[in-house]
Amino acid sequence: MQRGIALFGNNISYSISPVIHNTAFEITNLPYTYLTIDIHPDRFAKGIDAVQTLNFAGANVTIPYKETVIQHTTSLSPVARKIGAVNTLSFKDNVIFGENTDSAGFFNAYTTEIQALDRKTVLIIGAGGAARAVCDALITKTSPLKVIIANRNTERSERLGEHVRRVYGFDRTETIRLAGIEKIADTVNGIIQTTPVGSGLHTGKSPLPGSFRFHREHIAIDLIYNPIETVFLKHAARQGARTRNGISMLLHQAGLSFTLWTGVSFPMDKVIPVVMEHIKRRT
Ligand code: NAP
Repeated sequence: MQRGIALFGNNISYSISPVIHNTAFEITNLPYTYLTIDIHPDRFAKGIDAVQTLNFAGANVTIPYKETVIQHTTSLSPVARKIGAVNTLSFKDNVIFGENTDSAGFFNAYTTEIQALDRKTVLIIGAGGAARAVCDALITKTSPLKVIIANRNTERSERLGEHVRRVYGFDRTETIRLAGIEKIADTVNGIIQTTPVGSGLHTGKSPLPGSFRFHREHIAIDLIYNPIETVFLKHAARQGARTRNGISMLLHQAGLSFTLWTGVSFPMDKVIPVVMEHIKRRT
């Protein structure tokens, strides 16, 4: 019997997760279909109920539901509980299990860059679910000199700063406003962009002002994968920074979710060329 796996989000028509997972299901000959459910926040809870009723095997959860979905889970993995965000659900015997594969996906995708930032100062743009996973990976896998969180809504960045201090016992955290961020460009070594600014409805924009100066020692990672080179990454690359886009993380977190749902290894080597070809055709 064919079973469904859903991707819940709002305004996520750009997502290539269906291509990744349906390609992997085809390669492994597994009876699952992955489909996007673009849903308004008012209907999100009903959407979760519906897919459970329809015997879906699981779901991915993306912007803006990674934190709010926790209230709909009946159990959480230790890492999802620690991070306070969930990107993967699995449905079994009326249990809604929440997992977070973003942290491990981020680390596995950018291990070299993350290790290069050990004992250095890292600036995280954004304070949502993805930023929480990035904090987890940086703090549990390395020992940053300082983590600076900059967000549009400062209440949210302060909440994340407090979370990082309390849950990880990591005191070298600072929260700042996005306005005036260019002043600290020289004091940071890594810049990790975790907002949707640069993709979807925000394509052609950057969360950083044009006056933010990158340099050759900077490592700039944008979690956005569509477009493959955002304005943030273009500016960073043009000014000599080492840059990475979000495709590698997308594949790594997807692989971990795939294995959670199916118990089968993700056929990474076979999925990559199909996904790259899909991206090339789309651009
Ligand atoms: P989220 O929990 O909803 O958080 C969104 C964050 O972006 C918040 O900090 C929000 O700030 C900020 N933001 C939203 N619109 C903004 C705007 N117009 N200007 C400035 N800041 C804005 O979302 P998420 O789950 O963290 O996802 C964020 C992005 O990361 C998405 O583009 C997603 O596709 C990407 N992502 C990629 C991967 C990957 O595998 N490559 C994995 C996870 C996420 P406020 O608090 O001020 O609203």
